[in-house]
Amino acid sequence: MESFEEQRESLVESLKRRGYISNVAVEAAMRRIQREEFLPESLRDDAYVDSPLPIGEGQTISAPHMVAIMAEQLDLRPGMKVLEIGAGSGYHAAVCAEIVGQEGHVYTVERISSLASFAEANLRKTGYASVVTVIFGDGTRGLPEHAPYDRILVAAGAPAIPTPLTEQLAEGGKLLVPVGGRFCQDLIRIEKRGHKLKKESLGGCVFVPLIGEHGYH
Ligand code: SAH
Repeated sequence: MESFEEQRESLVESLKRRGYISNVAVEAAMRRIQREEFLPESLRDDAYVDSPLPIGEGQTISAPHMVAIMAEQLDLRPGMKVLEIGAGSGYHAAVCAEIVGQEGHVYTVERISSLASFAEANLRKTGYASVVTVIFGDGTRGLPEHAPYDRILVAAGAPAIPTPLTEQLAEGGKLLVPVGGRFCQDLIRIEKRGHKLKKESLGGCVFVPLIGEHGYH
């Protein structure tokens, strides 16, 4: 069997070939982060299959192509302050952290306490603990204490755009959120321009439900 490094290299090449990665910063981040370190022990060997995988509590780590799509669409830059809703394994937060760097920060909120601990442990062992803060709580309320955010990404499917998130978005900021039914959604990109929100649908996607005050109940 190929080494994890070789498998990671082929996955990134395939994501580029299929048009999911074109930004060099996204490419570098995905070449660097060891997805196997964000998986339960028994699933490490599947780390470079381009598919979501179970991480416990009925939740999943998103497929690499979905992480790539979201990272590309977010247009992350060094120094940005990012809010993620749904830490899960912490992998997606690590990809964001790699791009925003030591000058930036990623806050990631998780509503299931065992997963918040899992994400935190994974981020610590891979060296991202200084750039990423994991918070246990209901992310549909956002995280007002550190607002406004340059970028917000929601890694779970919402019934509607949670208003606290658009309120906590910085002027000129971008928000990515899957909106739709419990089993399939449209990935929506929102840009805040003054009092206006520019919304665009980027196509269909499948996420676990966003559960909370401004999500599913
Ligand atoms: N970004 C993750 C994928 C997480 S899957 C990764 O890279 O692994 C979506 C996660 O959102 C699940 O862990 C789920 O528990 C969490 N979630 C659902 N509703 C939430 C809410 N209201 N606040 C915070 N997390 C939530």
